[in-house]
Amino acid sequence: MHFVDLAAQFHKLQKKINTNIQRTLEHGHYILGPEVSELEMKLADYVGVKHCITCANGTDALSIPLMVWQIGKGDAVFTSNFTFFASAEVVSLRGATPILVDIDKSTFNIDPFKLEEAIVNVLNEGKLIPKAIIPVDLFGLPAEYDKIMALAQKYNLKVLEDSAQGFGGTYKGKRTCSFGQFATTSFFPAKPLGCYGDGGAIFTNDDHFAELSKSIRAHGKGSDRYDNVRVGLNSRLDTIQAAILLAKFEVFDEEIELRNKIAKAYTDRLKDYVVTPSIPKECISVWAQYSLLTKSTEERKKIQEVLSMNNIPTMIYYPKPLHKQTVYKDLDYVDSMFEISMQASKTILCLPMHPYLSMNDINEICNKIINVIKD
Ligand SMILES: *Cc1c(COP(=O)(O)O)cnc(C)c1O
Repeated sequence: MHFVDLAAQFHKLQKKINTNIQRTLEHGHYILGPEVSELEMKLADYVGVKHCITCANGTDALSIPLMVWQIGKGDAVFTSNFTFFASAEVVSLRGATPILVDIDKSTFNIDPFKLEEAIVNVLNEGKLIPKAIIPVDLFGLPAEYDKIMALAQKYNLKVLEDSAQGFGGTYKGKRTCSFGQFATTSFFPAKPLGCYGDGGAIFTNDDHFAELSKSIRAHGKGSDRYDNVRVGLNSRLDTIQAAILLAKFEVFDEEIELRNKIAKAYTDRLKDYVVTPSIPKECISVWAQYSLLTKSTEERKKIQEVLSMNNIPTMIYYPKPLHKQTVYKDLDYVDSMFEISMQASKTILCLPMHPYLSMNDINEICNKIINVIKD
């Protein structure tokens, strides 16, 4: 069994993917070819924003908006303590300070109440200037945007939505990647909409931000391509990757439905034995991960061992909250500020999740887990 079965998806879409790749090889516009603009138009339309700017990966997609906003030394940017490292890394890379915030225990997303506490704290200390919030749509579930946007307005902060795991989800009927002045996603192969290498995208309704993002992804070019008006990056999505994404995008909505069916099947079987994910009624998740909480680290270890003996892969996302990362040891965080992320890192377990997981596989996985717990 696979944790994410990319080969099953490829076999299903093989004809279309091969045709699209072949077409790219023949027309020869390997960088910013026609497939890139077609994909950008389709994704912007799907999300319901004016501009989509693709780039080399989901991490650059986060860096570019911070560059557009000229965030740097002395600035504070707030993000979740329980996420992939890149959400905070991009802040450090700009020379700004990531302010880590604990999560809500039922959604694993940033806790808006603690977010406000953190903002007030930074203001009271007076050492850093609060500039932006990076909410993360963790495991495919949108963050609490009504509350986050209200805080952003109250404290005059920008919002950069990290939807690397959440593309395709909805919050109150609105698609992810449409919240905040900027939003981003990743096309890393294992993400819900993945390509066959690295890729990412930026979304915005702001014409000026879009123009600056396009300049930054191409070495800070001005209107004359060989006149560089700012320092930028070399961060474009390959045309071949766009061609692959166009093929996968055709079945993306179907795949989201399948992911939701699979998640429901897991939850129906497991809800009396472990803490299953809870999805607020105003949200649709794209289930980048199906993550449950076990009673203890020992119980998690036993479940992992038994599943692994039966060739069923599991993962722990994330074993170390960001405040425990070695690189952030000088930020002077203490575990007691992050009770929920600490607890989650000790007991969370992610099960195989992809649209082509069979009901037989789900039954087998659930039976094994229930047997361990009943033992
Ligand atoms: C994967 C991921 C990223 C980074 O995306 P890459 O394409 O791997 O650079 C950023 N944030 C989150 C939450 C992610 O899961």
